[in-house]
Amino acid sequence: MTKPLDPAAVIAEFIDRVAPYNPHPDADPVAVLGVRTALGEDVFTLSDHVIRALCRAIESYRDPEDRGNCANCGSRHIDENLHCEDCGQLHGILGQVIAEHARRVAAKSDDSP
Ligand SMILES: [Zn+2]
Repeated sequence: MTKPLDPAAVIAEFIDRVAPYNPHPDADPVAVLGVRTALGEDVFTLSDHVIRALCRAIESYRDPEDRGNCANCGSRHIDENLHCEDCGQLHGILGQVIAEHARRVAAKSDDSP
């Protein structure tokens, strides 16, 4: 069984992981972060070093479902087979191979009388 995600505990562990590398450990905290969930609540005072690290971690996060935008319609709904759920365009290597094949077939039928 997976244990429920406890956001306050995750943030506390993040601070413990990052804080030892603060180059100015005596500087005053610059941010206060409050977290309230069904599991409880916590308020963290964060150093400049830790809040910057937290922001960088958030900025670098990508959703596992994020497979980019459809090159054809711009949709963000690309399924695990790199198939656009909105316009049907196939992406990735397979999509390129199929598009290339379709172009060749189309070019051949243009040549025939
Ligand atoms: Zn599309």
